[in-house]
Amino acid sequence: MAKTRPGVSAPKLKAGKKDLHSYTIRGTNKIVRVGDCVLMRPSDIGNPPYVARVEKIESDNRNNVKVRVRWYYRPEESLGGRRQFHGAKELFLSDHHDVQSAQTVEGKCIVHSFKNYTKLENVGAEDYYWRFEYKAATGAFTPDRVAVYCKCEMPYNPDDLMVQCEGCKDWYHPACVGMTIEEAKMLEHFVCFECSEDDFKQFQNGFHASPVSDAKVESKRHKR
Ligand SMILES: [Zn+2]
Ligand SMILES: [Zn+2]
Repeated sequence: MAKTRPGVSAPKLKAGKKDLHSYTIRGTNKIVRVGDCVLMRPSDIGNPPYVARVEKIESDNRNNVKVRVRWYYRPEESLGGRRQFHGAKELFLSDHHDVQSAQTVEGKCIVHSFKNYTKLENVGAEDYYWRFEYKAATGAFTPDRVAVYCKCEMPYNPDDLMVQCEGCKDWYHPACVGMTIEEAKMLEHFVCFECSEDDFKQFQNGFHASPVSDAKVESKRHKR
């Protein structure tokens, strides 16, 4: 399977190797510690930097510092490619480990959990998130299923504005319900087409004749 990363074969055990607690990025005062996420120089200049989690830092007897990393993949580097629900700052935590010269470390970044990322008030250049683990050899994701929203049944892309229906509590893309983003931002209340239809039917029938699944939705609707 073609790897998208420069592979460096695992170094043989040599005398004089020692573990380091930290590494200072050359020309900066930024300190990298085990567990930190880093940006690494890509093999093609012009590509975005690689993102990795540092698992080990060690130096040999000639003071060459190496970092053992676990790669994060960008959606476009994955076998399935970027999909519509992948956010601009989305990364996949891969099972692909590597050893690289510490000199390829260009900077630091933060890879948040999806939940924490969606709570950020401001997303900085160094903020990323992950929600899927990724098997580099097969392209498989864990979890292989996530919650989907809207009529288009897509997982949540935090870059896209969504509006919540006050009836079913589902979230909708403005475009999927025939609104512009500007219109959606102006809305004070939103009820999706299905929910407004339901209300109309109940009004006509004068009683609840909904199937069980709808009844559940109903009870949710009246909860305060
Ligand atoms: Zn949609
Ligand atoms: Zn609804």
